[in-house]
Amino acid sequence: MEGAQRRLTTLPGVGPRLAQRLERLGLYTVGDLLLHRPIRYEDRTRLRPIGTLRPGERVLLEGRVAWSEVARGRRKRLLCRVGDGTGQLDLVFFHFYPRQAEHLRRGTCLRCFGEVRSGYGVLQMVHPEYQLVTPGDADAPAEDALTPVYASTEGLYQGQLRRLVAAGLALLPEIAPERLPPGAWLEPDWPGLAEALRTIHRPPPDTDTEALLEGRHPAVRRVACEELLAHHMTLRRRRQALRAAAEAPRLDRGQPLAQRLREGLPFALTGAQQRVDAELAADMAQSAPMLRLLQGDVGSGKTVVAALACARAVGSGCQAALMAPTELLAEQHCRSLQGWLAPLGVEVAWLSGGAPAAERRAALERLADGQAGVAVGTHALFQDQVVFHSLGLVVVDEQHRFGVHQRLALKDKGGGGAEPHQLTMTATPIPRTLAMTAYADLDVSALDERPPGRQPVQTVVVSGQRRSEVVERVRAALDEGRQAYWVCTLIEASEEVGAQAAVDTAAELGQALGEHRVALVHGRMAAGEKERTMATFARGEVALLVATTVIEVGVDVPNATLMVIDNAERLGLAQLHQLRGRIGRGRAASACVLVYHGTLSESARQRLAVLRETDDGFAIAQRDLAIRGPGELLGARQTGALNLRMADLHRDADLLEAVQREGGRLLEQDPAAAEALIQGWVGEAERYGQV
Ligand code: ADP
Ligand code: MG
Repeated sequence: MEGAQRRLTTLPGVGPRLAQRLERLGLYTVGDLLLHRPIRYEDRTRLRPIGTLRPGERVLLEGRVAWSEVARGRRKRLLCRVGDGTGQLDLVFFHFYPRQAEHLRRGTCLRCFGEVRSGYGVLQMVHPEYQLVTPGDADAPAEDALTPVYASTEGLYQGQLRRLVAAGLALLPEIAPERLPPGAWLEPDWPGLAEALRTIHRPPPDTDTEALLEGRHPAVRRVACEELLAHHMTLRRRRQALRAAAEAPRLDRGQPLAQRLREGLPFALTGAQQRVDAELAADMAQSAPMLRLLQGDVGSGKTVVAALACARAVGSGCQAALMAPTELLAEQHCRSLQGWLAPLGVEVAWLSGGAPAAERRAALERLADGQAGVAVGTHALFQDQVVFHSLGLVVVDEQHRFGVHQRLALKDKGGGGAEPHQLTMTATPIPRTLAMTAYADLDVSALDERPPGRQPVQTVVVSGQRRSEVVERVRAALDEGRQAYWVCTLIEASEEVGAQAAVDTAAELGQALGEHRVALVHGRMAAGEKERTMATFARGEVALLVATTVIEVGVDVPNATLMVIDNAERLGLAQLHQLRGRIGRGRAASACVLVYHGTLSESARQRLAVLRETDDGFAIAQRDLAIRGPGELLGARQTGALNLRMADLHRDADLLEAVQREGGRLLEQDPAAAEALIQGWVGEAERYGQV
């Protein structure tokens, strides 16, 4: 294996056991090791006068033994007092050999490294590393660089890691040649790659180590940038490969049908909807399959955009399938699509697990012979018995439920060896640059504009002590003929207890609200029962829906104008925003009441304040990113898959745009340099590709 992809086992002294331990840290190659960033540094470059030490510091010092003794208190220990003329300090050993006590007798000169602690009247160092030095040699040079400390694992010693890193650094010019073309996007003061890596692993004594550890240092930024570029290009190339490998039908004759759909709508498309519709149309007109992610905040109008894409497929002589994660959502989509498409003569088939057998069989037949142009359903859509006549487009809604990168087993459903175009839609927006980096193997579109005329949701934060006022507010809304949600968050870790809390709340509110009908859904109910209850709410037969957070996804009940979220302080920003997105969907003014209990922590206060200030999902995602970091936002799986070592998507967010631009340019204009960079850091796709 070439370059930084060289296996660690090719380094001297790395046998199977050591290799195994290194693998536990995810370190397989010399490149991995060089990107393994120290978690702190120790200064062994200079001797510190004992008189200047403070507890907590890890220091190198040299002194002469004043006395030593084996003390036998509660625990037997070897005490050894050393002094250097500026002060004195006790070395403490709880484990020691008899010979050690002899070594450390009065007059011996020692060089020690360890953490300074406060002791009884005199500072201490417990179990320091030490060596005997001859007095004449007392000013023998210390280390010439700061000593790195790495995250490690059982049985893997710092000394081993340092030795291996040193071996890797020695190979540097050979394995990691300068691969980045000089360009304006590289900061002029950034060091070259080799110098940067040396600075990270063996910083000169005067280096700003805080900047190194926090990733602000040019050395870290330089390496992070190269790493991001390599990963970005890998994902991009993977997308290219996917698209090149498969042939999709050209869906380029659908404009007239899509146009008729547009003209039949009771509203005008927003600018964002028009833009995304055009992006989809352009993608689908190609014979390479579309792989596109549509990010759109709750209520941004993704469904109609999906319907337009379906119309384009049908107008081009193919079929389209729309999949939702739950029956309720699928049913809702089915209603919308039927409403828009049936008047145009397009048949929409309903495929769900719950449909009566005869109905289901009929739907299957009409899909198989191509009578039905569009299929809507849940996972049931992708069962074996479902055969399409000519599937050209698959739309998956609320994709974060499935994991954005999950590719569905659709190849056989395309018919004639063709693969359908794919659109996935998510209501969990993440900042665009982040999305384009994390999902660089997809194209990303954003619906970043709200349909007009919608009243913003007024959000208030209220202490749980004012519960009775909150209940009155609910009653007032219901009295006006509106509907409301009351969300109980899990108070205990267990779903069971959480469900019980919802049961109790429903009973209590049922009593308090008298004639208004109250229903309950929670995670412990059978899926069918849950869906039936939600459906009664959607039909307006139930006035108040008490629920655990299971209602998070996609329900559209425009008449629901009030939401109470109890214990709102327990939820994250994204989840609160998703929940709140269930209201404010009609023309009437809506309100969200965030009820908290006890005193709010600082971060909870911040979260609730963000929600009060804005209901723009992208803005909220940006704040969430600042509060929680990208790992939480993308899910461990996605960030894990990115497997970044030196780079940090949040910290280095300002690099992402340049990385995308340069990555695209490099792949196009200098494929050899791109290849070298990818091979250098990411290499074997197998370690990376299984997302
Ligand atoms: P989401 O993006 O959350 O899936 P939906 O597609 O459910 O949003 O749309 C929310 C509501 O907004 C629906 O009732 C839909 O008919 C309506 N809508 C969509 N686009 C527009 C528009 N351009 N103008 C007015 N209303 C719209
Ligand atoms: Mg939706």
